[in-house]
Amino acid sequence: MKTPFISRERLAELTAQFPTPFHLYDEKGIRARARALHEAFAWNSGFKEYFAVKATPNPAILKILKEEGCGVDCASYVELLMSQKLGFAGNKIMFSSNNTPAEEFRLARELGATINLDAYEDVAFLKEVAGIPKVISCRYNPGGVFELGTSIMDHPEEAKFGMTKAQLIQAFKELKELGAETFGIHALLASNTVSNDYYPALARQLFELAVEVLESTGIKLDFINLSGGVGVNYQPDGEENDIAVIGQGVRQAYEDILTPAGLGQVKIFTELGRFMLAPFGLLVTKVTHKKHTYRTYLGVDASAVNLLRPAMYGAYHHITNMDRPEGPTEIVDVVGSLCENNDKFAIQRELPVSQIGDTLVIHDTGAHGFSMGYQYNAKLRSSEILLEENGQARMIRRAERPEDYFATLYGFDFEK
Ligand SMILES: *Cc1c(COP(=O)(O)O)cnc(C)c1O
Repeated sequence: MKTPFISRERLAELTAQFPTPFHLYDEKGIRARARALHEAFAWNSGFKEYFAVKATPNPAILKILKEEGCGVDCASYVELLMSQKLGFAGNKIMFSSNNTPAEEFRLARELGATINLDAYEDVAFLKEVAGIPKVISCRYNPGGVFELGTSIMDHPEEAKFGMTKAQLIQAFKELKELGAETFGIHALLASNTVSNDYYPALARQLFELAVEVLESTGIKLDFINLSGGVGVNYQPDGEENDIAVIGQGVRQAYEDILTPAGLGQVKIFTELGRFMLAPFGLLVTKVTHKKHTYRTYLGVDASAVNLLRPAMYGAYHHITNMDRPEGPTEIVDVVGSLCENNDKFAIQRELPVSQIGDTLVIHDTGAHGFSMGYQYNAKLRSSEILLEENGQARMIRRAERPEDYFATLYGFDFEK
C-alpha cells in the first residue's frame, strides 16, 4: 500500500491555507533518501550524485540536496543559470545535454561545468564554439536492446542519445590531442527501472568499456557516470529498489573489472532524478464535480497541465482519498478540466465512493511532475509547497496568475 507522508488532519490545515491544486514535497523524505544513496556508495571515495534538475527544478529542493552533498545535472541554459545562482561550483555541475545550442556550451564552459558530450560531432562543434575544456565526458550508446535476464528493459538503438563505441574512442583520441586531460564516460540505457540489477548491469558494460578505452587510447578514465534510470514503483504493491543492494552490486562489478585493470581510482557518479524525488511529492487536489454517463467521472481541480505523465505515457499514479480511508468503493475515471480526453489521472480505477469537496492525493509526483507542466487551455501552473522537517509548510513557488500568462504577449496589455 502507498501511505501518504502527511496525515489527513495536517493536510486539511494545508488545504485551508493553500488553494488546491498544489504539489507538496517532503523534506524529511528527501534528506533520508539522499543519505541512503551516499551510504550505499560510501565504498567509492569519489562518489557524487548530480541531481537531474529537470526532475524538480525548484531552488528550495536543490538547496536541500546541496546541503546533503549533491551536485546538479543540467541540460539547458536556464538550468545552468539556476545552478550557478544557487552557488553550485563548476565541478558540482554536470552538463549532460544533447543537440546543444552553442550558447549553452559557452555558459557551461564559463561556469566550469563538466561537459558530457552527446555526439562525436560535438567534438568539433564544442572546439569551435567554446573551446575544449580540461575535463570532458562522452556519452555512450551501445545500440541494440538493453536486457536484464530475459526481459528487455529498453531500446538504446532507438535512442537519440550518445555515441557508438568506435566514435567514443575516436572522440577521446581527438579530445586528448586538443588538450583535454581528465576523462569520463556516461550512459543512460533504461528509464524507470524497478530492479536492483539495472545499475550493476550498466556498470559492468561501462567498466568493460573503460578497460577498452585504456587499452586503445592509454586514457585512464577519472569517472564513470551511471546517470539516471533507477526508478520507483508507482504501483501500490510489488517491489521497490533497494539502493543499498544496488550500491553493493556496483561495487562487485567494480572489484571484478576495474580494480584488476588498474582502474581502482575511478570515481562513480550518478544523475538520479526520479529515485531521489518521486516518492517525496504529492499532487494535492480536490474533487469538484461528479458526473455519471457511460462511466462515473470524478472531476478534480488539477489537470494534466499539473502532471503530464498519465496523459503522455499512460503512466499509473496511485490515488488516495484522504477523507475516506475506508468504506464502499466504486469504479471511476479521475479527470481534469482540459478539453482533451487524455486528461485523466486514472481510468476505471477502484476508489472509495468520493464526494465533492474530498481531498485526493496523487502519489509519487515529486519528480517529472510539476516540471513537465504546461499551459494548454490557458491553464496556469500550480504552487509548490514544502513540508519542512520541522513540520512547518512553506510555499516555495506561487501559483501562476493570469498576468503571468499574458506577460509574454505583444500588443495585448490586460491592464489597459
Ligand atoms: C532525465 C535524465 C536523468 C534523470 O533520470 P531519472 O529517470 O529521473 O533518474 C539523468 N541524466 C540525464 C542525462 C537525463 O536526461
